[in-house]
Amino acid sequence: MKRSGTEGFELTARPWLRRLLVSRWPQWSLMAVALAFFAYVVLAGFFGTPVGNRNIAITLVWIAWWAALVLVLVPVGGRLWCSICPIPAPGEWLQRGGLMASDGRRTRGLKRRWPRRLRSLWLQNAGFLALALFSAVILTTPRVTAWVLLGLVLLAVAVSLVFERRAFCRYLCPVGGFIGIYALAAPLALRVRDPDVCRTHPTKDCYRGNAQGFGCPWMTYPGTLDRNADCGLCLECLRTCPLDNVTVVLQPLGADLGPRRGRPPLSIDEAYKGFILLAAALVYGAVMMGPWSALKDAAFQVGSGPWFLYAAGLLLLALLLLPGLYLLAAWIGDRLARRPAGGLRRGFLLAATGLIPLGLGGWIAFSLGFLFANGSYVLSTLSDPLGWGWDLLGTAGLAWRPALTGLVPALQGAALVAGLAWATRLTSRAFAETTESRRAALRRAAPVLLLQAALGAALMGVML
Ligand code: SF4
Ligand code: SF4
Repeated sequence: MKRSGTEGFELTARPWLRRLLVSRWPQWSLMAVALAFFAYVVLAGFFGTPVGNRNIAITLVWIAWWAALVLVLVPVGGRLWCSICPIPAPGEWLQRGGLMASDGRRTRGLKRRWPRRLRSLWLQNAGFLALALFSAVILTTPRVTAWVLLGLVLLAVAVSLVFERRAFCRYLCPVGGFIGIYALAAPLALRVRDPDVCRTHPTKDCYRGNAQGFGCPWMTYPGTLDRNADCGLCLECLRTCPLDNVTVVLQPLGADLGPRRGRPPLSIDEAYKGFILLAAALVYGAVMMGPWSALKDAAFQVGSGPWFLYAAGLLLLALLLLPGLYLLAAWIGDRLARRPAGGLRRGFLLAATGLIPLGLGGWIAFSLGFLFANGSYVLSTLSDPLGWGWDLLGTAGLAWRPALTGLVPALQGAALVAGLAWATRLTSRAFAETTESRRAALRRAAPVLLLQAALGAALMGVML
């Protein structure tokens, strides 16, 4: 494979793969299949049995899809799921005026620009936290899962009709926020071959759209795109670029997580996304895998006194305690390094870099435990999706049985150790590349590395 102008191996150098990606059919077909499953799941949630592990709305979404997303799609493909996600599909089809529309010069709706002050992850952070507080109920009650999924589609349709492009995906979707932040660790990336070609190309079709396709739905200018979080891998720019300057590459691991022109790789809203997701991994691990039955009861009894305590604890951990600990570690590091350039704010954001691999390791460990403990429910509900006593594939009678019980803790431990080791490496590199001397960088990073190690140990404590 040919090495591209960007960092990485150019997958689209293979003509057959390029043709496959430029064609709308494969992507559209996968999205249509996903939408059919989505509709099936929503109907099952409303009309099937209310018993969570007997209803395919729960098992297909929260066991099978979630495991595929966290264990494979995000770590390898980054935002690959976003490219075929069914949630924005109906809104996008209305906005484009057809199921297979391709002329990007014609779009419908009010086409308002998304308000400037809302162009950040804060709304996604709030949405994810709101879902996280009720997750024990969402994950086990088919009707609630159906309402949440339906609500997301309706919101996406409304936003598509009022605002331009995919404002819902970029600024509102709570799952999109999760995927985007961890996509920074993924090797699959879309980039331009030569940014100089873009600089001198007057029409910028990739952003404006042309007869071949739509201007970037994620409101990104591909000519300067250098991180996976900002690209939904929709492939429109691969179709619209008349100079054949867009390519899909496999880049080195963590390429998006180095300092960007001397600046930290994460912004403050992204760092908070990292805190929220790490807090959720710790709390879900404790609720679903830990021995604390009172905590489990509190998470499930929504509206009760113990639930309010649980909700307050989760919010406190995500919004105050973890950020406070990182701020303290960055402050101590600053003092030890005798106040290096950039100040405490930069030190805090550099420290947050490690949140991505550490949190991803935590979520992989959690999802491994959840999948192998509950995977047998997926097989039984494939035969009896609505809990109505069917036996379509002869697997309805399968008793609940956790799989690979001897191996799973070792796999979870490996994921957590790998996440921590990667976080240590990235954080050390981030400080080294932005601090004047090696000695000062080491002193600056030391308190943060200790904190990361303690959090890695906490993840192991709740999950193993
Ligand atoms: S259309 Fe192609 S060459 Fe022009 S700015 Fe976009 S990616 Fe670059
Ligand atoms: S148009 Fe290109 S840069 Fe924009 S989201 Fe799609 S693939 Fe990514």
